[in-house]
Amino acid sequence: MAISYYTDFEPTYGEVVQLSPLIRRVVAKNPNPFTWKGTGVYLVGKGDVAVIDPGPTLDEHIDAILGALGPDETVTKILITHTHTDHTAGVPKLQEQTGAQTYGFGPHGPVPEHDPLESVTFDEYFTAEEKKTIEQEWKDIPDELKREGPDTDFLPDVTVGDGDTISGGEGDTAWTVEVVHTPGHTSNHICFGLQNDGDGKKALFTGDHVMGWSTSVISPPDGDLFDYMNSLQVLLDRDDDLYWPTHGTAITEPHQFVESFITHRKGREQQIVDALGQKSSTIKDLVPTMYAEVDKRLWRAAANSVYSHLLALHREGRVTTDGEPSLVATWSLG
Ligand SMILES: [Zn+2]
Repeated sequence: MAISYYTDFEPTYGEVVQLSPLIRRVVAKNPNPFTWKGTGVYLVGKGDVAVIDPGPTLDEHIDAILGALGPDETVTKILITHTHTDHTAGVPKLQEQTGAQTYGFGPHGPVPEHDPLESVTFDEYFTAEEKKTIEQEWKDIPDELKREGPDTDFLPDVTVGDGDTISGGEGDTAWTVEVVHTPGHTSNHICFGLQNDGDGKKALFTGDHVMGWSTSVISPPDGDLFDYMNSLQVLLDRDDDLYWPTHGTAITEPHQFVESFITHRKGREQQIVDALGQKSSTIKDLVPTMYAEVDKRLWRAAANSVYSHLLALHREGRVTTDGEPSLVATWSLG
């Protein structure tokens, strides 16, 4: 069940790195347990440049993106993988500076009025010392980075769907990306397939669909594990040479990596089925055992993942609940 993660990544914040003749990256200084080392913003093309996911709205970060451009270069397009604020919050500022149009699948799906996750805490598993450290870390995060989650304000200027292509540049520096709809992490998640990165390689910008450092967080109701698994299969049916995720470094053995994700998810599902075979349980009971080896700060996110597994199993008629399916329900086999 072990996944060989790609964790060799030490970005210098704000510095532009040339990854291939047609791909550059600037990493924003917004590291936290969900963004890992921060949001990696890709610049595609030369002269006529597309920015994939501008990232947070930090002034120095937007300046770093613009500073990465040569004197004759302009950002003409802003491509959005999905509507989470660590990807899209910087859109208005970048758009104001460049006049570029945004391309995306559509607005964020419906968001419940109250975060259902508020009903699940793991506070009792943290020592007083750990709680203090977490509080301090939280204080150290700038306010504009604390509002991570769905960006319900974003609306693309240009709506794109699966199979659409977006092009820019000309001659030697012409580029084309194909839109690949990959719902699961969010319902509007898309990946962008660059047909030639300038080195003859097919590069897929995977957003948060497949990342090298972690599995993807699936938060129902907009996040959907059943869709997510299908979207992993979509990647297996393609022949990309490498993936550039938003958080972390390149995934250079893409099929092997995606297959390990599928195996991992099936393993998680089996763990749930086994645990419920012992006794009926709540998500709060299941997470600390299933995610014992994972940073406890991620357990609430893990609760969402377990919930999405249970919803998928429920849809298949393999589990039942004591009432409506919810994060606080008691789940049983059968
Ligand atoms: Zn995301």
